[in-house]
Amino acid sequence: MTDHMRFRVGDQAALELVQGDITQETSDAIVNAANSSLLGGGGVDGAIHKAAGAKFAAECRKLHEQHSPLAPGHAVSSSGGDLPARFVIHTVGPVWHGGDRNEPQILESCYCNSMAEAERLKCTSVSFPAISTGVFGYPVPQAASIAVRAIADLLRSPRRIILVRLVLFSEDAYNANVHAANELVRSAPHFKITPETVHS
Ligand code: ADP
Repeated sequence: MTDHMRFRVGDQAALELVQGDITQETSDAIVNAANSSLLGGGGVDGAIHKAAGAKFAAECRKLHEQHSPLAPGHAVSSSGGDLPARFVIHTVGPVWHGGDRNEPQILESCYCNSMAEAERLKCTSVSFPAISTGVFGYPVPQAASIAVRAIADLLRSPRRIILVRLVLFSEDAYNANVHAANELVRSAPHFKITPETVHS
């Protein structure tokens, strides 16, 4: 079985960390680490475009006409096309320039605005990749601590979304996110985040 770790957040929500391919996710929505053109690219964006098919590509061309260039931190949505997920939420992460150009705040906005878009679409479950940690060069451990903190902060108060899955492509990224979540459990009891089960 692939690695999998589950944390309870607040009274009714859960954060799951898994190692895997986000195109296989059956959550209501998956999040795409898009580029500002919204027309597709490499990495997770390329994998999503490849798996989601022609109707999805046509929707992305419409998003391109309406929203491009999408500013970093913002989020827009399309259908999931041929994917198991009903929706794809496209967000543009910050390019890493060393950390003093608002990269942490922009990355946090990616998670918050994507969650807000998922709520608007009446989703109860959302899967995220590790935004900005590929071509955009954000250091994986720092990105992990922003991701788990931003998600836990949103999940600890009641909302429609009750399950967020962080889908990590590599073992290193998975381990960094598990470490970040355990750090949050240890250092921030007010986040009401507790480990639930571990399988490996
Ligand atoms: P960015 O441009 O935001 O850095 P990338 O797609 O280059 O986006 O990388 C973001 C993260 O997505 C990286 O950690 C990369 O390993 C990961 N990734 C690539 N393909 C997939 C996939 N199919 N499922 C989940 N994560 C993926």
